[in-house]
Amino acid sequence: MDKNKIRQLGYMISSRMAQFFYGRNGFDNLARFCNAVAIVLLIINIFAQSIVIYFIWVALFGYSVFRIYSKNITKRYAENKKFMQITEGPRKIFKLAILQCRDRNVSRYYICKHCHQQIRVPKGKGRIEIRCPKCGERFIKKT
Ligand SMILES: [Zn+2]
Repeated sequence: MDKNKIRQLGYMISSRMAQFFYGRNGFDNLARFCNAVAIVLLIINIFAQSIVIYFIWVALFGYSVFRIYSKNITKRYAENKKFMQITEGPRKIFKLAILQCRDRNVSRYYICKHCHQQIRVPKGKGRIEIRCPKCGERFIKKT
């Protein structure tokens, strides 16, 4: 096969895919989350071999596939938005934990108690007064 034909084939496949996903919900955050949990369960179940985990896996995987192929975009959009709202707190804490771990030698992260702004300060400065850049709240922390 010459290069032109390969390019044509690639174009055909991508346009078919686009056609297929046109008017469908696609991979939104909720579908991605269900899929991620499903994969974790799949790995756990290699060792656990539990029928309960298997059924939860089927349900989660099925639900994520349903979301991806769903044509009721308005409804799926609303569900996804709600999911993002509910998980906002935990997601923030999770993100902060990752940052804390990544920069543990150089920085410390704090959440402003007043406005919940995330503040990064250099580590090893002793007790310092931190001023929130967003709302101006001051608090003392040991870095
Ligand atoms: Zn603040």
